[in-house]
Amino acid sequence: MSDTSDTSQTGTSNGPTSATDIAWNVRNGVVKAADVVERFLTTIDARESDIHAFNLVLADAARERAAAIDDLVSVGRDPGPLAGVTVALKDNLCTRGIPTTCSSKILEGWTPPYDATVVTRLRDAGAVVVGKTNLDEFAMGSSTENSAFGPTRNPHDTTRVPGGSSGGSAAAVAARFAAVSLGSDTGGSIRQPAALCGVVGAKPTYGAVSRLGLIAFGSSLDQIGPFAHTVADAALTLEAISGHDPGDSTSIQQGPLDLTRQLDFGVAGLRVGRITDLPAGASPDVEERLEVAFDTLRAAGAEIVDVEVPAFSYGLTAYYLIAPAEASSNLARFDGVRFGLRVDAPDTNAMYAATRTEGFGAEVKRRIMLGTYALSAGYYDAYYGRALKVRRLIANDFAAAYERADVLLTPASPTVAFELGDKASDPLSMYLCDTYTIPSNLTGDPAMSVPFGTGDLGLPVGVQVLAPALHDDVMFRTAAVLEGAVS
Ligand code: GLN
Repeated sequence: MSDTSDTSQTGTSNGPTSATDIAWNVRNGVVKAADVVERFLTTIDARESDIHAFNLVLADAARERAAAIDDLVSVGRDPGPLAGVTVALKDNLCTRGIPTTCSSKILEGWTPPYDATVVTRLRDAGAVVVGKTNLDEFAMGSSTENSAFGPTRNPHDTTRVPGGSSGGSAAAVAARFAAVSLGSDTGGSIRQPAALCGVVGAKPTYGAVSRLGLIAFGSSLDQIGPFAHTVADAALTLEAISGHDPGDSTSIQQGPLDLTRQLDFGVAGLRVGRITDLPAGASPDVEERLEVAFDTLRAAGAEIVDVEVPAFSYGLTAYYLIAPAEASSNLARFDGVRFGLRVDAPDTNAMYAATRTEGFGAEVKRRIMLGTYALSAGYYDAYYGRALKVRRLIANDFAAAYERADVLLTPASPTVAFELGDKASDPLSMYLCDTYTIPSNLTGDPAMSVPFGTGDLGLPVGVQVLAPALHDDVMFRTAAVLEGAVS
């Protein structure tokens, strides 16, 4: 097992490591963005060949950008709240003129004509993009093994997976290849890899962050969010990327989230819910950490209350109808006509079939077939229609639970990081990784994973904090208290 504290110590002796500290130092002219970026690039050079967090490292662009930021500071201008902060982007976020692959062969050779809104906002805030990170193809998976470009490895133990689908983004932060990163979360793809890699990962309220330029998987479920080493860094990043965007019709009509100012407010008097009918499946080491989390919050002045969310356990089933149904529609555009790969064939229909057969991997094909079936005439009501009704029941149950509790705690992942290949041939066991994360995608409520000590084999465990829609601030406050108890 490799020791990630090595890199952090190097970081400390060479300059600030947290995004909050980097931004403060660069903005105040104490540290040069160019030096910050060089330090991260050196770490990438040293370990990326073992980890494979990136599909693409943008070293030259990062250096240029850092120099431009330093120029701003030298003439007395403020580059913004993320000045000099290195960021890695999940490779399903569009970057103008820079390949965006979704870790799929089907997008080979395609470069987006525009930047995702989150990318524009990060740049406007002074951040420096260092690369595009690996993912499960089209964000379908929980281990990053479904990438067409080979798996990412967990920096804590390179024989193990980093989780998925945003495994590259989680690993990039854990290995200190970037101060923060962005991922997307459709059923747990930020929170589960965050848990497995021992970093903070947050999925904000649906609509808080623009999805414009995020290549869609399940549009009613997808949200973009940050990975970071600290709760404060995740909050800072989320503030920069959130807020209304007229380019996304599901974007909430409100300004950026207000998080960093409230992080120290504590949990005194807060009602923290324990879900008594949570589906079984978490391993004993994870259960144990969850108990310690409840104790920690109680000791910090919170009241622990029992709540029931009976429909929670149907989340996975409903999700595996709704998400594939939306994916089968969203991925219909990749047919060899406008984007990426085209496999020539005698007629148009044969060209579509040849392109999709060649371009998509096995899991993506499985989802497209599942979704097409769930939406097909004669089965629509029995599958997709019913799943929507279950989605409503889950939302009702959570609403009732939130009458009695301000936040809820669950495990983020049922287990610590598993070995590469462990679940690769058994889709159902892979799907079960998201038992605890999926419900909040179905409801649109915010949820985050905060590292909370270690479980079996000394591997990281994440505790999930859930809150009602638009209460991201309370969720972050709770996470900050948990973080304070282990750091
Ligand atoms: N692991 C889940 C899936 O495969 C969730 C993926 C995600 O959140 N993008 O669908």
